[in-house]
Amino acid sequence: MPSRLEQLCVDKGLRMTEQRRVIARVMSESHDHPDVELVYKRASDVDNTISISTVYRTVRMFEENGILERHDFGDGRARYEEVSDQHHDHLINVETGQVIEFSSEKIEELQRLIASELGYELVDHRLELYGKPIKGHFVKDVSPEESLVKINQTTLHKKDL
Ligand SMILES: [Zn+2]
Repeated sequence: MPSRLEQLCVDKGLRMTEQRRVIARVMSESHDHPDVELVYKRASDVDNTISISTVYRTVRMFEENGILERHDFGDGRARYEEVSDQHHDHLINVETGQVIEFSSEKIEELQRLIASELGYELVDHRLELYGKPIKGHFVKDVSPEESLVKINQTTLHKKDL
C-alpha cells in the first residue's frame, strides 16, 4: 500500500520513480523532522543506489509541491516534515535537538487577537520555542512517534511562566 505521502504525490500528478517512492516512504515514517542527511541515511538503507543529490532534489520538489514543510530550528540545517492538516507548534530541546510538537488553543486565540488588534486576519503563523530541560524538574517524556501534545489550558498559570 502506498504511504500517505506517496498518494499525495500521485494526486499532485508528480511522476513517481522508485527512488522518489522510497524517499516519500521514509518521510512518511519519520516523525522527528529529519534533515536531508538523515533522510539520505534512511533512504539509502532501503535502496543503496540513492545519492544524496537525489534526496536533495526530491525533498525540494516535494516542498515546492506543498507535500513537505521545511523548518529552520536555529542550527542552520533545513529540516523537513510531512505537511499535516493538524496545525501544531514546535518546542526544540537546545541540548539534544529533539523536537516536540504541541498545540495550545490559548496561543492560537492570542495570536488571532494580536493580528486583529493590528487590523489583520490571521492566515498563518509559525511558533518555535527553544528550551533546555529544567534540572530536577519533571520533563514530559515524548517519543517522536507520539502525536502532538495538547497543552492543557487549565495548567497554564502565571506562576508557571
Ligand atoms: Zn512538526
